[in-house]
Amino acid sequence: MPYTPKVGDKISDLDTPSMIVSIPHMESNIKKLFSKLKSSNPSILIRPHLKTTKSAHLAKLLVSNGATGGCCAKLSEAEVLIPLGFTDLLITCEIIGPVKVRRLVELWRQNKGTRIVVDSEEGVRGLEEGMKDEEGELLTLIDLDVGLHRTGVQPGEPSLKLAKLVAESKHLKLIGVQGYEGHLQHLHSFEERKSLCLESMNTLVQTAEEFRKDGHNIEVVTTGGTGTAEFCITVPGVTEVQPGSFLFMDTDYRNAVGSFFENTLTIVSTVISKQAPKIVTIDAGLKSLTTDSGLAECKAPGYTYGVLGDEHGSLSWTDAPDLNVGDRVEMIPSHIDPTINLHDFYYAHRDGVVEEIWAVDARGKVQ
Ligand code: PLP
Ligand code: MN
Repeated sequence: MPYTPKVGDKISDLDTPSMIVSIPHMESNIKKLFSKLKSSNPSILIRPHLKTTKSAHLAKLLVSNGATGGCCAKLSEAEVLIPLGFTDLLITCEIIGPVKVRRLVELWRQNKGTRIVVDSEEGVRGLEEGMKDEEGELLTLIDLDVGLHRTGVQPGEPSLKLAKLVAESKHLKLIGVQGYEGHLQHLHSFEERKSLCLESMNTLVQTAEEFRKDGHNIEVVTTGGTGTAEFCITVPGVTEVQPGSFLFMDTDYRNAVGSFFENTLTIVSTVISKQAPKIVTIDAGLKSLTTDSGLAECKAPGYTYGVLGDEHGSLSWTDAPDLNVGDRVEMIPSHIDPTINLHDFYYAHRDGVVEEIWAVDARGKVQ
């Protein structure tokens, strides 16, 4: 019999490493986010970033809880989610190069409501060229640099010039502006995160106003992540926020912003060797847990994780209960989005019994 985990199985019977989610805790994070943001600004739209979950099921679950569509980082994520019935999407990365533009045009033919961002004249010209034989327009937002210095046109004259170019383009329809303050999400000081976020929001909404003064119809002003959404929504003129990580959290976010949202996703792992009295080897290494934002943590306190390579990790301790070959542990990821991208399925459980199995539909879709 091939290995086929099923609904009704116990978490303790799953092979490892396996990615598991506590349904009640995840549902609590969703409720917390929506009630916190909507109670403070009832007209705010919440368009969660699906680069975290990469799952059509979870995208739809978020909409059933009040979300307005979702964001994708990459075009190839949208290519997966749209045929699975999730169509209200903003792609938050620039679409550059003839191959990517060709793919976008194909996607747009299936789903005319797909929203995209641009930050350069080259980007606009490439999209115009790709759309030259089409009837209709791509819904386009200007991507503005509000301090992250990753993508985004500079505020002021450069942004006004680009907005004009988009508005004059035959196949692009300017609908809004995106300004993502990713450099602020993990600031540990609440006050610093708040004040710098309000500065970025000021740049964003002022730019939207300048666009309007120039005659553009700006309906969408979109921004924000898990660490800043609560501040973004207090700024008049911001229409939409894009948090993603709040659903599951990770140790990096928890260390920065606290535990208002709980860690709800872990990687179950097995102790496969014991190398010394107080150090064991588990079957979760770099291919199961990412390390860009520090090392994962064992959910049980008192153990320290170390990387032993692609497939192996160590857990060591001085004062915690002994671990032995065959024991199982749960590891909390340090950075949730790239960790999920390492796994095929979520085993979603309630009290240790698998209730649903969700595919990581857009796993590996980095183009
Ligand atoms: N918006 C954009 C453009 C992003 O790149 C990200 C994450 O990197 C987010 C929103 C969501 O942020 P978070 O997962 O921190 O909530
Ligand atoms: Mn991330």
